[in-house]
Amino acid sequence: MALSKTVVCKLKPTAEDSEKMLTTFKAFGDACNYISKVAFERRVFNPIALHHITYRDTRQKFDLPANLAIRARDRVAKAYKRRRDKLLGLKSLSMDLDERLFRLIYKPDGILTSISTVQKRMRVPLGIGEYQRKLLEDVKPTHAVLGYRDKTFFLHITVNREVTVFKGNNPVGVDVGIKNFLVASNGFKAKGGEILSKRHRFRELRSSLQHKGTASAKRKLKRLSGRERRCANTILHQVSRAFVNSLREGDVLVMDKLTGIHNSAKHRKSQNGDFHSWAFKRLQFFIEYKALERGIPAVCVAPKNTSITCPRCGCISRANRRSQSLFRCINCGFQHNADYVASLNLFRLELARSGRAVVNLPTVGMNGDLMNHYDSPASQLDLSMGS
Ligand SMILES: [Zn+2]
Repeated sequence: MALSKTVVCKLKPTAEDSEKMLTTFKAFGDACNYISKVAFERRVFNPIALHHITYRDTRQKFDLPANLAIRARDRVAKAYKRRRDKLLGLKSLSMDLDERLFRLIYKPDGILTSISTVQKRMRVPLGIGEYQRKLLEDVKPTHAVLGYRDKTFFLHITVNREVTVFKGNNPVGVDVGIKNFLVASNGFKAKGGEILSKRHRFRELRSSLQHKGTASAKRKLKRLSGRERRCANTILHQVSRAFVNSLREGDVLVMDKLTGIHNSAKHRKSQNGDFHSWAFKRLQFFIEYKALERGIPAVCVAPKNTSITCPRCGCISRANRRSQSLFRCINCGFQHNADYVASLNLFRLELARSGRAVVNLPTVGMNGDLMNHYDSPASQLDLSMGS
């Protein structure tokens, strides 16, 4: 299957080229706003119909290269797919590029990009590291977005790669939550502390800015939320990378379908519900993506009492959950870390779904020795199963 990935590259333009790009941004933005106005006033949102009534004018008025005029029309048509009740305007400094508007040029001393502008085509070196260079090797990207942030130009290049996905037969349950950020039935565990404490620092800064309420404070606030997201992203990448490295060929990931359940069940008191559900969804996405890169498939199952079901006797009761972290079955006495129990239940759900029976349960912590074997590596878990 084809897997697409976005590689973000800093550009190193000369002052003259920066000017050209900014001028082109302006023309592209003006064109989008013009097309948007026509679309909204005449109630024409279909891209082809919109093309007929705006293309010629767009090129003449804003002096855009042909494909940039098409990209502007596409962006407007796409924006109106979401809502049509108000006139939409282009706010950020960014523009879409296709294979006619940009390409990569490989030189022994680095990679350049050639981009169409309202003036001439220009060549700009990419300021990238080894990691990005690897990702850009032997690819023919057909789509990119040029953006401008903190006085820096970024090129977000979409690259496609073919991966072979193995047929997994060893389920690994994955549970995400606040206290233990990620717990998996193969023994992997990542605590949530780091992401939360960073979040805390941002929150203090934010509330002081909110109290000020001036225009400049508002601008700072907006920048902050972007920085906060990028910072959280970095952590999510690290956690998902470490976890995916712990997987083996033949594993298949089993995850909860995240549909807001975490807001109510796991952190009722939290005012950060939105942030957390965003982070959890993102984490799942990163895990799924990175696993697929290694050919490891993932399935999402509808969560069915995964946090309150006993993995040994099947007893379902809220009373099984003695605390945020402790699970002890009221029927058979099985006890273990609650997040780990959830990941085990996901593992069993997948076995049931794929029609296989469990012969042996993972034997860790079976008889009350809570947490003793909790950090044991996956190889020590008994995950064998019958046919
Ligand atoms: Zn039980």
